[in-house]
Amino acid sequence: MCMGIEDWGPGQGRLSRRRFIGAGLAAALSAATFGRPNSSGADTLPQAGGPSTPRILALTGATLYPAPDVPSIARGVVVLKDKTIQAVGTPEDVSIPADAQILDCTGLTVMAGFWNCHVHFSRWQGADTLPALQLGRALSAMLTRYGFVRVVDTGSRLSNTRYLRRRIASGEVSGPLILTAGSGFAPSGGSPYYIQPARVPELIDSTGAATLVDQNLDEGAEVIKLYSGSWSSPDSMVLMPPDVIRAATKTAHDRGALVLAHPSNSAGAKAAIDGGVDILAHTFPSPSSGPWDRSLAAQMTGEGVGLIPTLKLWSYEVRRLSLPSLVGDRARENAAAQVSAFADCRGQLLFGTDVGYMSDFYPTDEYVLMKQAGLSFEQILAALTTGPAARFGRAAHSGRVVVGMDAELVVVEGSPKRDIAALARVRYVVREGRIVFDGK
Ligand SMILES: [Zn+2]
Repeated sequence: MCMGIEDWGPGQGRLSRRRFIGAGLAAALSAATFGRPNSSGADTLPQAGGPSTPRILALTGATLYPAPDVPSIARGVVVLKDKTIQAVGTPEDVSIPADAQILDCTGLTVMAGFWNCHVHFSRWQGADTLPALQLGRALSAMLTRYGFVRVVDTGSRLSNTRYLRRRIASGEVSGPLILTAGSGFAPSGGSPYYIQPARVPELIDSTGAATLVDQNLDEGAEVIKLYSGSWSSPDSMVLMPPDVIRAATKTAHDRGALVLAHPSNSAGAKAAIDGGVDILAHTFPSPSSGPWDRSLAAQMTGEGVGLIPTLKLWSYEVRRLSLPSLVGDRARENAAAQVSAFADCRGQLLFGTDVGYMSDFYPTDEYVLMKQAGLSFEQILAALTTGPAARFGRAAHSGRVVVGMDAELVVVEGSPKRDIAALARVRYVVREGRIVFDGK
């Protein structure tokens, strides 16, 4: 019999370093620690906009990237009216309305708003009662100030995240648009040991899997997260059976929901791909399971499975756990090789960092590691914008700076094409036509 979603209960899953090391790097996944939102660095107050905010905003003078697959525009102009992009082009192409607020972006670079496809609100509690300002500050510190206007939460308490999502959607709280998976589901006997005493609900058989996935979607989740491979103890990996993955995936797909999988290693990745999932939520670089299966990159692209690299996560875990440097080096090499092989097969990369599990919110390292893995600026920008927008069915609203799209933009200092770290040097973030972060 399957456990209920409510079994993913509060708890502080702390483990000794030795136990983590025993699991290799497989431990790096959805966090299940709870507490107050981490507000470190939340000293910049997001500007949600008020009655005085002009209805028309014009950004001028920037190098503008309308999308990764089209040429940039020097001294680009973008006019936003209310929540929609009204005009895009050169100063000669676009006439700026007289009543527009002008935002001089000379020397800056303008791109579509970013997605982070792997975040967690699992540390957040009290989203129904905490003051809007406090929530907005915490959201800015973790996400908004880095340009993330849309995020995919791959593991949290659904009831709490629903409040957060609702208060953001109503405009009361300044933050990104959230798609959430709720709790996620583990294989039978495979709730990750390292989040104990918290437990992820388990899918025991295909019938129960369909029921719980239905229930999760009924309760407000938009995507489903499966642990296709999960460490139930430091030295015991549990794979989700193919028929269970297929039942969960079919149920989700019948309702228009995507399925993300946490693979842990090559066997977990293969189980997920064979089971029909849509996205792997991580690379799977742990050297503890032997060499990774290099045939998976082609299989993934053949099946249309997307990949969220979470490259920084592996370095973060190695540092946090003081793992031997050789283990860390091998993990980083494996992860980079997986991304490179996947990109060579023209697979769909989706940007994601596992922030919220990681208490280090800076995305710079992720950009640098993606570049070092061989990705171009355009590929990284696609992973931040057009890729997720298409994969999550929002391409008509998000991902491109094009007339008629939602008015969400990221403005950074300098040229990310020349220096990829510039993607994290965010000057302004615009969401729903309003400046929600001003880094001046
Ligand atoms: Zn995660």
